[in-house]
Amino acid sequence: MSPGKSGLYLTFRPENASFKAKIEELSGENIDLCMQCGGCSSGCPLTEEMDLLPSTVIRYVQWGMEEALDSKTPWVCITCFNCEVRCPRGIDVANVMEALRQATLRAKYDRFSLDELTPEELMELPQIAIISNQRKLSG
Ligand code: SF4
Ligand code: SF4
Repeated sequence: MSPGKSGLYLTFRPENASFKAKIEELSGENIDLCMQCGGCSSGCPLTEEMDLLPSTVIRYVQWGMEEALDSKTPWVCITCFNCEVRCPRGIDVANVMEALRQATLRAKYDRFSLDELTPEELMELPQIAIISNQRKLSG
């Protein structure tokens, strides 16, 4: 069964460890420090627009669940850093959200050029996807 709002269902797979390591490398954060206190979620101004709470996204990554890439939460995050300020373990959740966006873009849009898209396709892309793409090109 896949994870959803009704609960988390963890399946141990070899890729669990590699996904967590990838997100830790991209974000520079030690995900294991999270104790699931919920402080980040309680301070986030956009949870009503998210399908997973920020703390749940962290849990997914902690358990190496690539389903975190299917969540719209990283794309809703506005990098306001409220979560970082509230985290008693010093985890910058916004960095983790950015890492998840990067991982998604690398997986789905590698060697992707904005010039190849129609105006209609550009309108459908999340704005943060376009910004992240430009960062890749200028990085
Ligand atoms: S940085 Fe993102 S996840 Fe953190 S509080 Fe702001 S909107 Fe929520
Ligand atoms: S505030 Fe920090 S320790 Fe608490 S759930 Fe969020 S990331 Fe984990």
